[in-house]
Amino acid sequence: MQRYPFPKTQLHCHLDGAILPETLFEMAKERNIPLPGNASSVDELTPYVVYGPDCISVNTYLERFELPTSILQDAPALERAAYELTCRLADEGHIYADIRFAPQLHTRKGMTQAEAIEAVRAGIDRALLDHHEIVIGLIVCCMSFGTADMNHDANLETARLAVEYYNRGLVSAMDLAGAEGMCHLTDFADLFEIANAGHCPLTCHAGDSQEPVEIRTAIELFGSRRIGHGHHIIDDPDLIKEAIELGVTLEICPTSNIQCLTQPSYEEHPIKKLFDMGLHVTVSTDNPVIARVTVEDEYDHLKNSLGFTDRELIQMNLYAVDAAFCDEQTKALLRKKYDKYL
Ligand SMILES: [Zn+2]
Repeated sequence: MQRYPFPKTQLHCHLDGAILPETLFEMAKERNIPLPGNASSVDELTPYVVYGPDCISVNTYLERFELPTSILQDAPALERAAYELTCRLADEGHIYADIRFAPQLHTRKGMTQAEAIEAVRAGIDRALLDHHEIVIGLIVCCMSFGTADMNHDANLETARLAVEYYNRGLVSAMDLAGAEGMCHLTDFADLFEIANAGHCPLTCHAGDSQEPVEIRTAIELFGSRRIGHGHHIIDDPDLIKEAIELGVTLEICPTSNIQCLTQPSYEEHPIKKLFDMGLHVTVSTDNPVIARVTVEDEYDHLKNSLGFTDRELIQMNLYAVDAAFCDEQTKALLRKKYDKYL
């Protein structure tokens, strides 16, 4: 039962943070992958794969990704994960969602990055056969693990595949995800040059744990018009002005920001201030299963803690449609679905 009747558009959802404990349990059993704590049931497994009181640092939060990553090392596992997530997003009332993942995290057992992309695409496409009401964008992520040279070859491969698969209509955009703050984003400029040369659309994680200067790099040097998180732009009024002028959209994930300790609370989150200034901010879940949050839960938090009205929540959905990685004709159809709620 949906608490918000209007359609949802979500721009920032990671596949590996969106797999239900039931699915992880089954897929681990099928693959003889040991479960944390020797869990013998879904209930026993759940505390190890979702956010909980023991997540006192970002590292314990990131440990939640270990089991999903160890399972998602073959095409059927990725296909199923993408299929189930797409179905769930449709069931939650989404008319558009971007799903993202990093192909290089799925090559431990010999799968290639290209095979990983094709498996995720196949899962999405299978779900779309039953869910004509939703449009899905697929974003492939380059990764920052530390310094840019640590996985430079793998990132180059991701960037080249992003371009190739974008031009084949199988991928919608490229992203850079992972640890922020181990080096400056400028060190990853060559990846964005490849994407730009191939006309592949961009988003980039920036300004979540780090300073606005990283957001400036993503906007000015990479040419990205979407920023993953980006809430620390609040500390640079000039950059806010510039972002508004350039039509930059922020993909804000409030619960994730609090769980990852990059904002102290919903009440202190700058999303409302940024919205009121006229910056295009949008609302997403980041890692809905790990964070134990749906997009409607995020709306509840924004209403209760920051005073957003339903009309403003719809406006953020419309901003998300504007920034969606799909063609103008599709955007016009998506926008129309909001008409009766305005
Ligand atoms: Zn993210």
